[in-house]
Formats: sequence, C-alpha cells, structure tokens
Amino acid sequence: MKTAMEYKESLRELNPTVFLGGEKVPSVADEPRLEPGINAVGITYDFALAEQHKGVMTSKGHEDLGANRFLAINRTTQDLLDKLEAVRLTCKVAGCAQRYLTHDAFNALFEATWQIKEEKASENHARLIDYIAGAQKADLAVGIAMTDGKGDRSLRPSRQSQPDSYVHVVSRRSDGVVISGVKAIITGAPYMHELLVLPCRRMLADDKDFAIACAVPIDAKGLTIVTRPAGRPGQAAAKFSAKFAQSVAMAHFDNVFVPYDRVFIDGEFEAAHLMTTNYATHHRHSCIGARAGFGDLLIGAGAMMAQANGLDYEKTPHLREKMVDLIKITEGFYACGIAASTMGELDPAGNYRPDRIYSNIGKLLLASQIYDMHRLAHDVSGGLVVALPSPEEDHNPETAPMLNDLLRGNPEVSYEHRANVARFIEDLTASETGGWYSVISMHGGGSPEAMKLEVLRNYDVEARSELVQALFDRDALDMGRGLKADRQPGRCCPAGCGGDELVKTNARNIDDKNKIQSIETTPK
Ligand SMILES: Cc1cc2nc3c(=O)[nH]c(=O)nc-3n(C[C@H](O)[C@H](O)[C@H](O)COP(=O)(O)OP(=O)(O)OC[C@H]3O[C@@H](n4cnc5c(N)ncnc54)[C@H](O)[C@@H]3O)c2cc1C
Repeated sequence: MKTAMEYKESLRELNPTVFLGGEKVPSVADEPRLEPGINAVGITYDFALAEQHKGVMTSKGHEDLGANRFLAINRTTQDLLDKLEAVRLTCKVAGCAQRYLTHDAFNALFEATWQIKEEKASENHARLIDYIAGAQKADLAVGIAMTDGKGDRSLRPSRQSQPDSYVHVVSRRSDGVVISGVKAIITGAPYMHELLVLPCRRMLADDKDFAIACAVPIDAKGLTIVTRPAGRPGQAAAKFSAKFAQSVAMAHFDNVFVPYDRVFIDGEFEAAHLMTTNYATHHRHSCIGARAGFGDLLIGAGAMMAQANGLDYEKTPHLREKMVDLIKITEGFYACGIAASTMGELDPAGNYRPDRIYSNIGKLLLASQIYDMHRLAHDVSGGLVVALPSPEEDHNPETAPMLNDLLRGNPEVSYEHRANVARFIEDLTASETGGWYSVISMHGGGSPEAMKLEVLRNYDVEARSELVQALFDRDALDMGRGLKADRQPGRCCPAGCGGDELVKTNARNIDDKNKIQSIETTPK
C-alpha cells in the first residue's frame, strides 16, 4: 500500500485534461487549488499504514494479499462495521475522505456482475474481480462517475434531445466499446487515478446503450474534466478547508475507447438497475459514517467555543441541551449505520451489503438534520463566527493588540484560540465549505425522495397490517371484556362466518346504532 506522499507522487505519472477557474491545469499534483483534496485522500493512505488504525483501515483483500478498506469486498458483517468506522475515522480528520465511494461501487458491481454471470455465463464478474485485484495491488484512487448530466429529468436517457446528457455506448468494436456523454458531479475527479463509469438510474430495454459500467484511466484520450477548487485553499480564515477538502468536477467523455477487460456492464439494463440501487445502499451507509465524522468536529468545536466565551456548557442549562442535541443527532444516525452493519445481508454473490432500511433511514436523517447541526453550532457559538475581523488583523500592529485585549471572552482563553475556534466553526457551517456540507448531506447518495422510495419499497408494511389483523382475530384487543368479533369480510367471529352472515350482522349493527342515536338526540 502507498503512503500519502507516494499517492501524490503517483499523480505525476498521469496527464489528465483538467480545467479549473478558466484555465488548464498543467500538473494536478502541483496545483495549490487542488491541494486540500489531495491531502484529504492522502489520509486514507497514511491511516491504512498506521499501526493504530490498521484494524479498520485494511482488509484481507483479494487472495488475502491485504488492501485498503476502501477497495475491499465485504466478506462479513464485521467488514461492514469496520468500513463504517473507517469512514468516520478518516472523515473526522479529512472532512470527506472520498475514497469510500470506490468501496461502495466495487461491492455493488460485484453483486450485479455476479447476477449477469449467473444468467449469461459471461465473464463480466471475473473481469471485475481482476480489475479490483489490480486496483488493490496498485492501491488506486478511483473516482465514481455515476451521476449523469441527466438533461430533462422527466425523460429517460434514450428520450433526451441531447443524447450526451447520459454517458452511453456510441459504437462497439471487436476489442472494446466507445463511449460519449457527460457525468455531472464527481468527487475528487482531477486527482484520481481512474474513473469508474456507472449508470445512475433505472433503465428499460430501449436505454440499453446507456446501461454501461466500465473503468477509464483519468488521462484517457477524449476525457475532459472541469473542476472546482477543493475547499478554500490559501484562505487564512479557512481553518479546516484550506488544508482538507474536496473538489467536485464534471467529466465529458468524447468518444473514449474502453477495452473489454474494463467493461463490466454493457447493455444488461436490469443488472444495471440492481447495481444502481445496491450502490445506493452501500453508499448511504458510508455517508452515515462520513457525517458522523463531521458531527465529531462540530461537537468538539461547539464545546470549545462555549468555553472560550466563558461558559461551562455542562452547567448552563440551555447550552447543555444544545450540546446533547448535537450528540443525539450524530449518534442517532450513526446508530442506524451500526444497525445496518450488524443486520447486513449476504448477497448471493458472496459479499455482505448493509441492511437497506437502516442505511436509508440513517442517510435520510442526516440529510435533514445537517441543517439542525449547523443551527445548533451557530446557537452555541454566537455571532462572532461570521463577524470576526479577518486573520490579516492578527498580524497588524495597529489592530492586533486591541483585538487581543478586547475580543477575549473567558480570561483564561487567549484571543488567538477563541478566533481559531470561531473561524473553524465558520468554515464548517457558514462559509462556502459549510454550504458544501449541507448540500452533500442532502443530495450525496441521492436526494431524500430516493431514500423514502427505497424505505417503502423494502419495508414490510403488509406484515404489520397482518399483525394487527391477527390481534383482532384473537380478540386480543378486547381481552377481559368479553368476546367481540372483528367485522372484516370473512372474519366476523372467531368461528369465521361467511360473507352473508357478515352483511346481516352489519345491518343489525347499523340498525341498533341508529336506534341508539335517535334516543340520544331526542330532546328530553
Ligand atoms: C458535493 C457532492 C458530491 C457528489 N459526488 C458524487 C460522486 O462522486 N459521484 C457521483 O456519481 N455523484 C456524486 N454526487 C451526485 C449526487 O449523487 C446527486 O446530486 C444526487 O443523486 C441528486 O441528483 P441531482 O444532483 O442530479 O439532482 P436531481 O436528480 O435533479 O434532483 C433535484 C430534485 O428533483 C427531484 N427529481 C429528480 N428527478 C426526478 C423525477 N424524475 N421525478 C420526480 N422528481 C425528480 C429530486 O427528488 C430532487 O428533489 C455528488 C453530489 C454532491 C452535492
């Protein structure tokens, strides 16, 4: 496995076409505006080599050769727990460690290609296993290019007026496929070694050419990446995101050739759909770990800010309540991640997938509660998080002594410390980076509506109705008050009278009820 430095150096061997801020980037590894992203990915490399983190950060890997956790196939439910913990661990240091998306895609593709192999006796699954083994051996950073441009949301891929709204196969050759189209949102794209192209939605038979999953080197001919900077590089006030952050990019595939040994799904639209929904389950489980790491940062910084303001949050009732709320939110959705791991499901392919209900509910919780987390952090901290003079004043002889003296809270806490904590909270909750955390929590892994659909699709509501009906049938609701039959057709009494009897019974009941009502409403 590589160190963070070796990973960064390995980017020099590649020559991707990357545009940033209106200009072409000559060298990704040397681009300051991408550095916080490279640093964040670097954490996933260094932590896998650190003795104290090896347990969660590595896995047995292909043929037990050892691999980074984020490139591993889950063989047990413990692997799911370890992955969840590894995501939290790396994200509380790096904000978003980015590489866990690769884990989610590898596992979902593992499941879908196994299905294709079972149906068609094809070599898709074997190709994927070879690819994963190679990625583990080279310790690659692989970006996930799933979200297409999508064009008009109301139309399926094959119905779009601009066919390149979705990446699709434009021609098939004897040695591979040629693909074109746009992937709109890819985390970390410019500083990845490869992109894994995956379909992002359910498709039907006439969308077959859009049901394509394949691996593309980041500097493949015809691939252009247009990216945003990672975080707030070079800004002194950006206490976190000047060092660790993520860039998000779009990628245009313009007649990119992909040899068959890198093609995992090609036209198998039903398996593609399975891959998309299974990826969502794996990924939403990872998102829970990522945002719990963010929660760790806010809880710590909130407590420090209260202390710097001169308040003991444990002894100040309303601050205590807010701190507990922050903890409750963070550990509440994280508990869903733990439940999803321990209740993980063995796929026929032989790997484990997190429980769908708990993964989706955990992600759904954090998608809305991220805004509560920001609100609580703002409430605990006070307005200085957005009002503090800029860091340049800290070195200005005309203002620094005054600020040091006058803008202290707790006399035992220096202005410098108070300002650091305030800027840290601003960075995470009220800056451009803060907005980024809200939107990724809301939409990363799919918008909330997608989770709600998935919960309802998988939750056995019918079984709960049957449970209630069974209680009626056993008279359990009338215990101790004599026999009272439920009046569902065919269930009018414990003996089970027929429908005719039921109609007569109902008629008698209505008649009796009318009589009672007329007695009650007759003026006395
Ligand atoms: C910071 C960030 C990083 C990301 N990283 C990655 C990444 O690395 N790789 C990747 O592949 N993706 C990534 N994503 C993309 C993410 O998965 C999508 O944002 C998400 O799936 C929502 O898609 P969208 O942004 O196109 O929004 P839309 O799908 O346009 O959703 C907008 C709204 O329209 C609704 N809507 C959309 N279509 C329909 C429809 N047909 N009928 C009814 N309602 C509809 C949605 O429910 C939602 O309310 C990232 C997103 C963010 C914000």
